Amino acid sequence: MIQDKLFRRGRAWIELDRGALENNVSVLRARLPDGCALMPAVKANAYGHGAELIVPELLRLGVHDFCVATAQEGAEVRSLGADGTVLVLGWTAPEQYALLREFDLTQTAADLDGARALAAAGLNLRVHLAVDTGMHRLGEDCGSFERIAGALRLKGLQIDGIFTHLCCADSAAPEDADFTREQLNRFGRLSASLRSAGLGHLKTHALNSGGILAYPEYGGDFVRPGIALYGVMSSARDTLRLGSGLHPVLSLRAKIAQVRAVHAGEGAGYGLDFRAVRESRLAVLTIGYADGLPRCLSNGAGRVLINGRFAPIAGRICMDQTLLDVTGIPGVQAGGTVTLIGRDGENEINACEPAELSGSISNELLSRLSARLERVWS
Ligand SMILES: *Cc1c(COP(=O)(O)O)cnc(C)c1O
Repeated sequence: MIQDKLFRRGRAWIELDRGALENNVSVLRARLPDGCALMPAVKANAYGHGAELIVPELLRLGVHDFCVATAQEGAEVRSLGADGTVLVLGWTAPEQYALLREFDLTQTAADLDGARALAAAGLNLRVHLAVDTGMHRLGEDCGSFERIAGALRLKGLQIDGIFTHLCCADSAAPEDADFTREQLNRFGRLSASLRSAGLGHLKTHALNSGGILAYPEYGGDFVRPGIALYGVMSSARDTLRLGSGLHPVLSLRAKIAQVRAVHAGEGAGYGLDFRAVRESRLAVLTIGYADGLPRCLSNGAGRVLINGRFAPIAGRICMDQTLLDVTGIPGVQAGGTVTLIGRDGENEINACEPAELSGSISNELLSRLSARLERVWS
C-alpha cells in the first residue's frame, strides 16, 4: 500500500487518539487481579482501527500478548514485533499449520479431535485448548474431563493454556449474570480438577471486555479485551453500564468535495431519493459504503457533524460518496472536514450511534471500516 505523508487526511480517514488508548489500557489493567496480563484482541485489523498502528503502540505500553482470528492476522501481528503469545482464536486449515510454526503462533484447538489434528502435523505446535462452558461455539465440552485431559496429554504438541468464552457477559439482566457466573464457575472447577490431575501449569483465560468490567475477579493468567480497549462498548446501553473511564480511540472523518443549492421540489442522488422540501444546500462528502459507512443510514437515518453542528445524510449513500443536507449550517465549503464518528466542537457522535441506527453493534461497524481509509494518529 502507498503510505505517504502526502496522502494523509486526503479524502476520508481514521484518526486514532494515542492518549485514549493509553488511558484504556490503564483502566483495564487497574481492574485485573495480580499476575493477570492483557492479551488484547487485535483481530479484524484491530477492530478496524489499523493493526499496523495499534499493535506497536500496545507494545510500547508493555503489552506482549495478543489474540487474533486467523493465522494470517497472527503472522502480521508477530511481524509487527509482538514478542509474547499470539493466539489464533479461530480454526486454521492444515495447509496453514506451517505458517503457525514459522511465526510461532499459538493455535486454538476446538476439541480433542482438533488437538489430534494439530498433533498429527508433527510440528510440535503451540496450542491453547478451548473449553465450552455454555456458549456452544468452539470448545471441548467442559463436562468431558477425560477428553480434555486426553487432549492436554497428547504427544507432539506444546499445550500450555486452556480458555473459555463468555456469551452474555455484557448483559446486566439477572438471568444473563447468573449464566455468566455459572460459565465462570464451571471453568474454575475444571481448572481445579486439572491442577489435581497434575496439569496445573496451564495458563487460563476467560474474560472478554464485558467480563473484565463486570467479573474481574475471574481474571486467570490473561484477559482478552477487544471492544473496551478501543474505548467503546458494543451498544450505548453497555457503555452506560460498563464503560466508565474508557475513551473512544477512533474518529472517522471525510472531506467535502462540493456544495450546491437545490430548489424546493428537486430531487438528488440515486433514485432522486432526496427531495428538497425547501430551498436547500447539499454537500457532497467523500466517503461511501465501500469505506464501511452502512448504506442503511441513507435518507436521513444517519447524521454527521459539520462545523460542530449535526447534518443529516441526504438521499442514498453511494459506494464512494454521500450527500448531506447542510441547509442552514453556516460556513460549509468544499475542502471542509466532516466528522462521522468522534467529536467536533461541543458535539460528539459515538460509534454506537451509527451502529445502532443501522441495526448493529459498534464491533461490526468498526471492524468493517475498509482498508481504503487512511489511518493516522491524531
Ligand atoms: C473477539 C473475542 C474476544 C474479544 O471480545 P470483546 O467483546 O470485543 O472484548 C475475546 N475472546 C474471544 C474468543 C473472541 O473471539
